[in-house]
Amino acid sequence: MAEAVADAIAEGTSQGRAWKEAGGDKESKPPAVIQAIEAGTGTGKSLGYLIPALASGRAPVIVATRTKNLQRQLLEEDLPRAIGILGRPVKAVLAKGRSNYLCLAAWEQAQVHPPSEVSKGDYGMWMALPQWAERTTTGDREELGHFGEGESPLWDKLNARAERCTGRQCPRYADCHLVKLRQEVAEADLVIVNHALLLADRKLRESAFGQVLPDAPVLILDEAHDLEEQLTEGFAETWSSRAMRMLFTDLEAALGSEESGELEARLPVWEEAWELLLGKLPPDNGTYPLDPAKLALAELADAVGAWVEAGNGVLGTLKGLMSKTEEGDLSWAKLAERCGQAFNRMEQIFAQPEGWVSTITRESAHVIHFKSNPIDVRAFFHQHLRMGFESLVMTSATLRDGKGFNGLGLRLGLSHEEVDRGLAVDSPFDFEEQAMLFVPPGLPERRAAMGGVGDPAWIEASLDAITRLIAASRGRALVLFTSRKMLSAFRPRLESALPQITFFVQGEQLTRNQLLTRFRTTPDAALLGLASFWQGVDLPGDALRLVVVTALPFAPPDDPVLAARIREADAKQDGLGFRGIQLPQMTLKLKQGLGRLIRTRSDKGVVALLDPRILLPREDPNGKRYAAQVRASLPPFPLVRDWERVEAFLRAL
Ligand code: SF4
Repeated sequence: MAEAVADAIAEGTSQGRAWKEAGGDKESKPPAVIQAIEAGTGTGKSLGYLIPALASGRAPVIVATRTKNLQRQLLEEDLPRAIGILGRPVKAVLAKGRSNYLCLAAWEQAQVHPPSEVSKGDYGMWMALPQWAERTTTGDREELGHFGEGESPLWDKLNARAERCTGRQCPRYADCHLVKLRQEVAEADLVIVNHALLLADRKLRESAFGQVLPDAPVLILDEAHDLEEQLTEGFAETWSSRAMRMLFTDLEAALGSEESGELEARLPVWEEAWELLLGKLPPDNGTYPLDPAKLALAELADAVGAWVEAGNGVLGTLKGLMSKTEEGDLSWAKLAERCGQAFNRMEQIFAQPEGWVSTITRESAHVIHFKSNPIDVRAFFHQHLRMGFESLVMTSATLRDGKGFNGLGLRLGLSHEEVDRGLAVDSPFDFEEQAMLFVPPGLPERRAAMGGVGDPAWIEASLDAITRLIAASRGRALVLFTSRKMLSAFRPRLESALPQITFFVQGEQLTRNQLLTRFRTTPDAALLGLASFWQGVDLPGDALRLVVVTALPFAPPDDPVLAARIREADAKQDGLGFRGIQLPQMTLKLKQGLGRLIRTRSDKGVVALLDPRILLPREDPNGKRYAAQVRASLPPFPLVRDWERVEAFLRAL
């Protein structure tokens, strides 16, 4: 792996040098040299890219990960080892999105004019802030411990988000945490970020103070298995009840001066128009496409029109105020820019141009998201990633949905050469010795009956199977469900069948990390998990001996973006939606789920799959065999269908 990374960086470097020597004309900039690497668990993937990237002398190297856990592992474990091997110091910086940092100007304002009310949830943070703000050298909200987690209207008023920042005009510019971070990042050899920040930074590059990350020759995208999803979200146009609330709050905070009288009159009209617009949305939580069958579109369009009209009144007033203020005072201009941004985004969302899918999601009574996602992300990948670097390494334990990298190539628009260049490095585990894949004998097909849970016969047989397996493994089990409905249906039955086991359930009170810690430290425990637990759960050793996958994880076809992708693919070729989109997506997710079990050479255990479709060389609705293809892409677990064998194996662990 290290060799492939070193080659990609060397090629990218010489290509870039030749281009610069030829004048560095923007039009003829060469695309990045792309190297895809699937490196199974236990292959030392992080060191496999860190060492050659740092040894190349190209700086800075940006490493983008999907999860905080991997960022922590890179900084605390892999980087010190890489430094030891390289024998020289490496300056590394972890950079987060702007909203993670305290804005000193906003904090100063909040001290002079404290918020009129602080919500119950924010009270602890409000009390902790003065001391922390005084002492912090980074301004990173995470230092506030549990006050630093989750949504917070108070933090929304204090964070360093770009749309409010006045940059060099700010009186606190010299000691601003963001400015310090940008300086550190500019001097770093290695910058670690998450995918969301990387993509947000690429999107913001054009604006003056939005960019946080420096120009870098080398990008390493770790956990790149769902890059298509990250691009779909990263390049979405969004507006939300929260963004609107923040804008109203900032506008209200700007009132009170002599000249703001007109604004004071116009703002309530705009606020009322927004409330009327929200009142036109369905009261039930869920995601709604812009479909007349799901939404009262004509009424909604009228309400959006009234909101734009009222907002234009505010915008006109702000423009008037801008012209009256001293040169260099950006505060009215910033507010005007944000109003314009709100109109533009809502316009794109409601216009739903070709190639985009718009949705409205109600998360709760007061949390609503408006969004327009691109159906095809290949152009974004090309413009922002391929053309943004000299060398680009994409890696993950699961990048291939079959034998090769064709699926990844199709999703991101890679060339044949880029696909062929892909490298697979297998896990060094002895799957024959360490594990078995168990599909219980006699299990009926699940079929999506019972409100999406499954056929009654399958439910009963699966409950029996999970009960027997968890009893044999004495807990130490992760059970992965494909829907909350399914989890909720199974949970009480499992709890009463296995009173000796402590069950932990995803999404109930504890955060993900708290849940994993409690699970790891509680004897005879089982963890019931949903979508996000199919990946990124790392429980080596005795804590985990059994992973149960309840069903092949096909994504629900009711996701409007996925549905549009399937429709487009089917229009090109009948059945391509299933073969080219649903099946590869499912295969990757299944690989991720099964990959939770064996994390080290000494781990042992059973992965049980309660979906007999995996066994049958059966015909799918499009007349193509797929089970064999899915099986071939899984780690080489020996397939076992014998209860005695599997129970004896588990009892002996
Ligand atoms: S420069 Fe921007 S982020 Fe920094 S303190 Fe000033 S307004 Fe806040």
